[in-house]
Amino acid sequence: MKIAILSRNAKLYSTARLVEAAQARGHEVRVLDVLRCYMNITSHNPSIHYRGEDLTGFDAVIPRIGASVTFYGTAVLRQFEMMNVLPLNESVAISRSRDKLRSIQLLARKGIGLPVTGFANNPDDIEDLIAQVGGAPLVIKLLQGTQGIGVVLAETHNAAESVIQAFMGLNANIMVQEFIKEANGSDIRCFVVGDKVVAAMKRQGKKGEFRSNLHRGGSAELIRLTPEERSTAIRAARIMGLNVCGVDLLRSNHGPVVMEVNSSPGLQGIEETSGKDIADLMIQFIEKRFETSETAKDKTRTRGKG
Ligand code: ADP
Repeated sequence: MKIAILSRNAKLYSTARLVEAAQARGHEVRVLDVLRCYMNITSHNPSIHYRGEDLTGFDAVIPRIGASVTFYGTAVLRQFEMMNVLPLNESVAISRSRDKLRSIQLLARKGIGLPVTGFANNPDDIEDLIAQVGGAPLVIKLLQGTQGIGVVLAETHNAAESVIQAFMGLNANIMVQEFIKEANGSDIRCFVVGDKVVAAMKRQGKKGEFRSNLHRGGSAELIRLTPEERSTAIRAARIMGLNVCGVDLLRSNHGPVVMEVNSSPGLQGIEETSGKDIADLMIQFIEKRFETSETAKDKTRTRGKG
């Protein structure tokens, strides 16, 4: 196959591993800086151009689109889909997953376990919002945040009230969430490929830190999932319509709750922790999907809900 990888930097661990895995399986692969792709949107002959070159002949595209370039990146991916190039994750599903609130609403509709979450606009509703998620301590999240930045633990009612007021005053969109104390500063990353969790790890925040993000200095170890955790992760991926994703769970005393579904999960932490060749599994998945797609349309059919 001829595979395009949309990534800002070919040297990133995940990108480099995908290139390596694709080449090892005999594919031709090319890394394209998504911000250098430009397009001609015509009805009969949509095209993508790259530094003056007309891009043609790709069978599949692997999007590794960072949160800061979601809008442009998904537009480029959509253009590949219009050209009947099979996406590993499709543009609609990536857009869905990048909206934390929309994701939670979609998962809630299908009965997936979630932390109790509230969303409001007017400062007059703050008292009630705090009460609805069970009072302090609670977690306040900026909808635009990633890698744990913009996630705040408010330990007291007064702190919660003033932080929410401050964010609202800045016109920032935030959601307010029940604090899952019993998770003890750890979460579980389930790496889903197709309809399987291919690896899982427990991430633990550094001492005194409730956020377990590896970018925030957390550490990772291998973990055995319960059947309920496994099925929650697989269902969450399916509802979002993502073929490959990282589903982040917290172990709460009311069962596993999903915090986030990440459509461009990093490979380094999970490969190092699990010792598995996840990049190879991703390439195998796209090969299989390519072989079993009967029509060009089938390759880019919209999956998932909402
Ligand atoms: P980001 O997308 O910025 O990584 P997350 O929503 O994943 O933000 O939150 C970052 C970290 O904060 C999580 O990995 C988890 O360890 C912790 N965390 C988030 N929400 C909660 C919560 N409701 N209760 C307990 N810990 C939480």
